Amino acid sequence: MTFRSSAIACAIAGTLAVACGPTALAVEQGPDLRPPVQTQPVASDVRLGGDERQTRFVVDLSRKTDLAAFTLANPYRVVIDLPEVIFKLPDKAGEHGRGLVKAFRYGLVMKGGSRIVLDTTGPVRVNKAFVLAAAEGQPARLVLDLAATDRESFLRTIALENRSSRNSPHAHHAPIPPRVSNDPRPLIVIDPGHGGIDSGAKGLNGQDEKDIVLTFARELRDAIGENGKFRVALTRNEDAFVALGDRVRFARERQAALFVSIHADSIPRSEGEAEGASVYTLSEHASDAEAARLAEKENKSDIIAGVDLSSEPNDVANILIDLAQRETKTFSVQFARALVNDLKPIARLHPRPVKSAGFVVLKAPDVPSVLVELGYLSTRGDLKNLTSAQWRSRAAKAMAQAVDDFFARRLAGAGNGG
Ligand SMILES: [Zn+2]
Repeated sequence: MTFRSSAIACAIAGTLAVACGPTALAVEQGPDLRPPVQTQPVASDVRLGGDERQTRFVVDLSRKTDLAAFTLANPYRVVIDLPEVIFKLPDKAGEHGRGLVKAFRYGLVMKGGSRIVLDTTGPVRVNKAFVLAAAEGQPARLVLDLAATDRESFLRTIALENRSSRNSPHAHHAPIPPRVSNDPRPLIVIDPGHGGIDSGAKGLNGQDEKDIVLTFARELRDAIGENGKFRVALTRNEDAFVALGDRVRFARERQAALFVSIHADSIPRSEGEAEGASVYTLSEHASDAEAARLAEKENKSDIIAGVDLSSEPNDVANILIDLAQRETKTFSVQFARALVNDLKPIARLHPRPVKSAGFVVLKAPDVPSVLVELGYLSTRGDLKNLTSAQWRSRAAKAMAQAVDDFFARRLAGAGNGG
């Protein structure tokens, strides 16, 4: 089989697909209340062929589109960046691989940009990456040809690519410029976990953690904002991926007074049943094995989405930052206790509800931060609560009360009494 090289529209490794994103929609005069015409290409099917030396990955598309493909190490991955694509792939597509591909994921990675991330069995080389136009009754097809390679050549290829232009879609390495606000009220940043290509945990009936926590986060935003004492912002308000470091930067740039990351866990049936909410703060050493497991799982978010971790700046490697972090830590634990107190009458709590571990998303040295696991999507009772508007409303109100209590205590000089 031969493929015309002219089919490679934007496949130069090292460019972001956004640079060759979808063409702008036609601008119309006056208000237009019709739903926008869907111009995004639709991915309808996917196939893997080949063996552990050479593997071909094919996606059927409703029309031709641009793409950029590149490889990442630790773990070995291949990332395909596309303009926004509507994925209508068969259920369970990507759960099992073939040849050099162990598994793959797909979804929105930023506004206007979709991504497919393939986990590979070892170091691979992208031999070809292109999209064929529809022809002879065949739909347009994205074709990716992978070949096995050794680690050394793999790393050399990565080094040759222009790394800075295509790591985290939002990553920036400059010092954090404060975003000045004229509003003196404390800012509470609510961080709905996961999003886009990273769906998070799966519920008993196939619910995605990313959707459940976004719904809750919006309700929590409204509950906290209600008494007018606080400003509230969400790190994401749509089904799009946000890198862990960018969530932290979001809060720091805005000099947030509090950062609350919202999650829901699930555990495999084989590990038994677990229920109830837990609140986590940052610590170098996990408070117990479950906290360690959870942090490891939540920290995988960037890997799942195909972020190049080697180019993530290390914001916290600094002794001065460490000093600031001690005070921040104290406040984080105080807020975690306030949360548990106010949640107790409403939510089932985990037997040991306040725990700590090395969550990347809690690493802002100057913003008190907690991560709330609302419950287990794998447990019927918890799932029922999380999908009940009534329960969510009560839980959000209780958490808003905890925010209020926390700041009232700080203003009253709680530092004296501890
Ligand atoms: Zn999560």
